[in-house]
Amino acid sequence: MIHPSTELRLVSPHVGYGVFASQPIPKGSLVYVQDPLDIKITPQQYQRLDETSRQLAEKYSFLDAKGNRILSWDAAKFVNHSCHPNTMSTAWGFEVALRDIEPGEEITDEYSLFNLEWEMECACGHNACRGMIRPTDAMMHFRSWDNSIQSAIAMIPHVDQPLIRSLDTLTHHSLNEYLRGGTRYRSVRSLLRKDLKKPSQSMMS
Ligand SMILES: [Zn+2]
Repeated sequence: MIHPSTELRLVSPHVGYGVFASQPIPKGSLVYVQDPLDIKITPQQYQRLDETSRQLAEKYSFLDAKGNRILSWDAAKFVNHSCHPNTMSTAWGFEVALRDIEPGEEITDEYSLFNLEWEMECACGHNACRGMIRPTDAMMHFRSWDNSIQSAIAMIPHVDQPLIRSLDTLTHHSLNEYLRGGTRYRSVRSLLRKDLKKPSQSMMS
């Protein structure tokens, strides 16, 4: 479920739709949480889909570490990637605002945390654009991303959280334990499937 202070807009005929803030969304806001209406497509179910359904699933879902595709029922599936995103996934599965998001600003996130199966060309337009979004990007950048996420998560208790009630009980409990200092931070590296966690040759050289 996407944050209620958002709306769907056409970005351009080339990019398609995107999700934009309709009200200020402060740093530390939960911007997306998985909820019971989201559709989970297991690898076995995916194999049984016809070609059209597979293409739609590939376009609109993201892959978790177990290879399940999560297809959001609402506008969350239209959130675009940016190489300088204002939200990011966390090890708890929700997305958090990394900085204050102004009304009219597009909500963006980091696709390489979604276990991509192939490279994608990036059209984010930011001056730090990587040009291509690669499945291995996350292993190269996760430490600096973790720093940004930790800073955002520290703000969670201090801002309005319209999505907090939609967090499942276990995740909510685990988050509270962390915020109370009872557990250590969990890196977004844990979102990645096993083969992506191995350092590639280019990263070792
Ligand atoms: Zn980019």
